[in-house]
Amino acid sequence: MGDFSPPIRRTRWMAAIFMPVIALVGILGTPLYIYFQRGLAVSEALLFFFYLTATSFAITVGYHRFYSHATFKTRPVMNFLLLFFGAATFQKSALRWASQHRQHHQFTDTELDPHNSKKGFFYCHMGWIMFYKHDVNFKNVADLSKDKLILHQHEHYDLWSVASGLLLPMLIGWGIGHPLGALLMTFCLRVTLVLNMAFFINSSAHMAGEKPFDAAASAGDSWFWALWTNGEGYHNFHHKFPNDYRNGYKNFYWDPSKWFIYALSRLGLAWDLKRTPQDKIFLALSH
Ligand SMILES: [Zn+2]
Ligand SMILES: [Zn+2]
Repeated sequence: MGDFSPPIRRTRWMAAIFMPVIALVGILGTPLYIYFQRGLAVSEALLFFFYLTATSFAITVGYHRFYSHATFKTRPVMNFLLLFFGAATFQKSALRWASQHRQHHQFTDTELDPHNSKKGFFYCHMGWIMFYKHDVNFKNVADLSKDKLILHQHEHYDLWSVASGLLLPMLIGWGIGHPLGALLMTFCLRVTLVLNMAFFINSSAHMAGEKPFDAAASAGDSWFWALWTNGEGYHNFHHKFPNDYRNGYKNFYWDPSKWFIYALSRLGLAWDLKRTPQDKIFLALSH
């Protein structure tokens, strides 16, 4: 698997400034904008909800369950869409995200875990990005580096993220006559919300929740966190069976990402969905 190194303390000014600034502008600016405009146009609300949905699923279904864990196979058109909307979240390239996430699974809660939850809530929530430098060893994503589009998104990440995350929503915002609304909601607020969906899995889901599969693990199962993270809150199960396309392993567990992948499979856009056999889950539960 090659050598991995622990993070080095170094302020990443771009992230340390970008994240709090867009959070403040989005959270304070949106209610003020709605107040002074006396409501929201349907078109700008739809733009916001479309982008929130597309980019959050690009992370949970794409960056996490497809690129990091290869829990299903899909067509080139989906590969493009997941990379396109994934870049719009400003969470770096799919290649880098998957490499660091695989490192997190391999070295959970040790010095080599990029967001080691033993270092406290703030560190594993966002401090690890704002104040630490991480050397990424791409040897653990050799399978992904064979894909030319994944490599293109990695090598031209700035172009992909600015085009999909900022320029396109702004362009649509101009088109529908609400550029300021697009900037405040579909850029600032939406990016902040999707960033924090991922952050809370690295922080809260490693600090609270039930532990039916591995009592010693920090990762917990929580329907509450699943509600806000497209179903990623069943994190104790996920660390036990990371190759399962589901995180909510019971049919009725809230996991829109697994329903999204299942819907793709019914449309012929996904196949080879990996499921842990029920008896294996049952045996793991009883220990
Ligand atoms: Zn985890
Ligand atoms: Zn994972």
